[in-house]
Amino acid sequence: MELIVARNREDLVKARRGGTVALVPTMGALHEGHRSLIRQARVRADQVVVSIFVNPLQFGPNEDFSRYPRTFDADLDVCRAEGVEVVFHPSADDMYPPDRQVAVSSGEMGRVVEGAARPGHFDGVLTVVLKLFNLVQPDLAVFGQKDAQQLALIRRMVADLDLPIEILGAPTVREPDGLALSSRNRYLSEDDRQVALALSRALRAGAAQLTPDEIRAEARKLLDAAGPALDLDYLALVDPATFGEVDDDFEGLAVLAVAARVGSTRLIDNVTLTLGPADRPS
Ligand code: AMP
Repeated sequence: MELIVARNREDLVKARRGGTVALVPTMGALHEGHRSLIRQARVRADQVVVSIFVNPLQFGPNEDFSRYPRTFDADLDVCRAEGVEVVFHPSADDMYPPDRQVAVSSGEMGRVVEGAARPGHFDGVLTVVLKLFNLVQPDLAVFGQKDAQQLALIRRMVADLDLPIEILGAPTVREPDGLALSSRNRYLSEDDRQVALALSRALRAGAAQLTPDEIRAEARKLLDAAGPALDLDYLALVDPATFGEVDDDFEGLAVLAVAARVGSTRLIDNVTLTLGPADRPS
């Protein structure tokens, strides 16, 4: 079947078929991580819609909005190869009329960890995702665990605002050496790329420890070992429900998250681990 490229609400209405609709929101420059989301959507839906929109609202004034990779034609090839029915590719002017007033607030949970490093970022993410939900009207939507705080906030938005959409999380796809796939990896030089490996190594080593202190210390050791070429933004061990730091007696699933700048590229990564008595030797 021919891939439909929809550029506005009217095109989306025309493209609508009956059955289950799954949305995979992306900013394009599609890679294997995006493909795995599309495949997860494909299994569940009669119609898969991939949105490709570099959302200006989620970039800070000194961030990389203008140099974010845009590879639309290659992205269409990926979508065709994955059997996607519709690509939604609106312009920023269509998405955001100049007189707009109302936006989504991500609350306290949007102001910690990644939200503390990027003020306003999650308000911008939730605003565009809510708009995409309203435009596409999917039954379900797929997001990557790679952006763990984003996924958690989208689940909170769906719960707090009673959105009738099922949210599916997809595991992080990595290079064989552990580097999490990211559209921004293309900006890493060969040397940068070696330095960037410290992120996934630190998360793996940290996750193999038992207590929060040991986890943080071990991860920090490997990040420090990368030297000054790795400019650490944060290392955080958080409760996935709130993204608040866990305390010593926390039990259950926790997220160990890291952000760092390597060269001119800012990278994030995380792993999920279990804290508590079940993990301790008896
Ligand atoms: P982006 O285009 O970077 O905004 O990402 C679009 C979606 O793909 C988000 O839900 C991301 O979490 C997800 N994603 C990005 N990188 C990966 C990856 N390496 N593995 C799995 N999902 C990913």
